[in-house]
Amino acid sequence: MSHSDPNCIFCKIAEGKIPSRKVYEDEEMFAFHDINPWAPVHFLMIPKEHIVSIAHVEERHAAMLGRMMARVPQLAQQEGCVPYPDGGFRLVSNVGEHGGQEVHHLHFHVIGGPRPWKKG
Ligand code: AMP
Ligand code: ZN
Repeated sequence: MSHSDPNCIFCKIAEGKIPSRKVYEDEEMFAFHDINPWAPVHFLMIPKEHIVSIAHVEERHAAMLGRMMARVPQLAQQEGCVPYPDGGFRLVSNVGEHGGQEVHHLHFHVIGGPRPWKKG
């Protein structure tokens, strides 16, 4: 993958250089379980391209991001979330210092399953 940052942990996960519990993969996105889950279901969806955050998205990313969003409900259900409206999930992307972003490769948290959760 050409748009990769050799120092980025999520680029390494998307390339299989760091192990993860994979949820889904195709040519443009990768999804894997969060190592420190807040809830019964907690996985992350990332573009394979190294994009720093949602604040760094460009027009050329729009179709890929649309495909990622369209896949969220399917993967959430596959991983154990009950469908809307009784179940559902939370979809979160942290941006920058004030947003609480720790890993600087765009990711969407998909968090769900029966409550209580550890956080949120
Ligand atoms: P944030 O940048 O605050 O949205 O959060 C980054 C998320 O990545 C946290 O929920 C971490 O638990 C998760 N995380 C960090 N390293 C790994 C890893 N190697 N595998 C899976 N999840 C990770
Ligand atoms: Zn990266």
